[in-house]
Amino acid sequence: MRSVTILGIPIHAVTMSETLDWVAAAIAKRAPRQICTTNPEFLVTAQRDAAFRGVLNDSDLNIPDGIGLLWAARRLGDRLPERVAGSDLVVAIAARAAREGWRLYLLGAAPGVAERAADVLRAAHPGLLVVGTESGSPRAEDAERLIGPIVAARPDVLFVAYGAPAQDKWIAAHRARLGVPVAIGVGGTLDFIAGQASRAPRWVQQLGLEWLYRFVRQPWRARRIAAAVIEFPLAVLRR
Ligand code: UDP
Repeated sequence: MRSVTILGIPIHAVTMSETLDWVAAAIAKRAPRQICTTNPEFLVTAQRDAAFRGVLNDSDLNIPDGIGLLWAARRLGDRLPERVAGSDLVVAIAARAAREGWRLYLLGAAPGVAERAADVLRAAHPGLLVVGTESGSPRAEDAERLIGPIVAARPDVLFVAYGAPAQDKWIAAHRARLGVPVAIGVGGTLDFIAGQASRAPRWVQQLGLEWLYRFVRQPWRARRIAAAVIEFPLAVLRR
């Protein structure tokens, strides 16, 4: 699959619909694969975190989750077709899962959030199989307790909501043992689905201003947002 290398990390040139077809093909093949919802903040973090850089380079699919990546690709004389937001992908996978009988497992977020997100998804997509929910933790010492029930539940898709880079490192460390065809780090997506946090309205997203909405709603994220909207473009322009 074609990719554009931005700050040393390959970002795959996929649309949402191609991503869903990729997921379907991975589930049919059953070998464990990892998707990263790469955004500008991921790439800034990866510049100073070699372990995270390794995970992103070994990941099977890095979707372009961030309008800044589309801009960076253009600066490099290349092109990414569209933004594929991780939060949209989770909802789209749930819709397709209900039709195809895919089994979903929701790991992470605060206690109770994954259960509530599962209820919301089941209500929206009757027949959806959520075969497990667990808040868990990304700590190494908790992995043993978490892995057994996931393996036993035999999910087709595992969503891991510990925030980046912890979630992506956790998947990379355990994916062989988990044996789940598709594992994806999904950040705060379970919070959005459960109604714990709200996403920007569509028109704000379409203007490329989701980061500004997040800054107004969650000013304590300022440092992380600055990584995406200041550090990232400066690093791209410097290259
Ligand atoms: N989280 C968790 N355990 C941890 C740290 C974080 O379950 O030890 C969850 C947190 O509750 C939230 C998600 O990880 O649901 C991270 O959300 P954030 O908004 O930071 O992620 P982003 O979407 O910005 O990557």
